[in-house]
Amino acid sequence: MSPPVVVFAVGNPSRGDDAIGPELCGRLEKWLKNEGLEDQVELIEDFQLQIEHVLDLQGRQLALFIDAGENTPAPYTFKQITPATGIAHTTHELPPQAVLQVYLQTEGCEPPPSFVLCVSGDKFELGEPLTVTIDTQRQRGYHLDSVNRSLHLNAHQLPEVALLHALQSEARKLFGQRLAYYAEMMGVPNPPLRLSSARTRWGSCNHRGGIALNWRLIYMPLPVIDYVVAHELGHLKEMNHSPRFWSVVATLCPEWQVRRQELKQHALHIPVL
Ligand SMILES: [Zn+2]
Repeated sequence: MSPPVVVFAVGNPSRGDDAIGPELCGRLEKWLKNEGLEDQVELIEDFQLQIEHVLDLQGRQLALFIDAGENTPAPYTFKQITPATGIAHTTHELPPQAVLQVYLQTEGCEPPPSFVLCVSGDKFELGEPLTVTIDTQRQRGYHLDSVNRSLHLNAHQLPEVALLHALQSEARKLFGQRLAYYAEMMGVPNPPLRLSSARTRWGSCNHRGGIALNWRLIYMPLPVIDYVVAHELGHLKEMNHSPRFWSVVATLCPEWQVRRQELKQHALHIPVL
């Protein structure tokens, strides 16, 4: 008898955000062990979903697919899925819906109730090379392919200018999401966001409640960005660095001390642009 629940964690552990699936799978494994639920849940980790995974759905009562998505709203989406074909999907060979569809066709019955947990993972990360190419067909703007970690700039701007625009635009998008997420957690209205480019300051908060974040934080890992966001949001409550301030930060970012050190480390290796 196979365990009633199957969890597919999809992703490549050595490819930046794609590691979210396998990472979560590792944590889940520990948790199941602690709770004594190992025989209830089978964890399957793979780079991508393939036809073969249809076999893993046999005899299950429930299936969960974990993945990292490039355009997923932060921090994650969770939804039920049904068999479907023709879904555009570039990350992996088969989207979960297509696996269900193959199951339906080959088994001749409905697949078990299935859900997708898609963790938002669209971000640049220090240490991961990003291929930058000039796309001569592209008239304006840019395209970020976070799966292949490549950035396609247009040929009508100076490369430095185009790159700066692309990075700042991605920064605005990501920081805006993180700020909204943590503001809600803290129970305050979403503060106005401004990008700054000071060489020595990562964030600031003015007395009107506006928050400025240095666009160069885009080069840093998400937990470090989140720490800076939590820090500035903390100043909405405490305009100082008192123990009271740090306790506010800790409610949003319990590991703030570690992140603060990481920020200092990463700051030493920020590209010059
Ligand atoms: Zn501060």
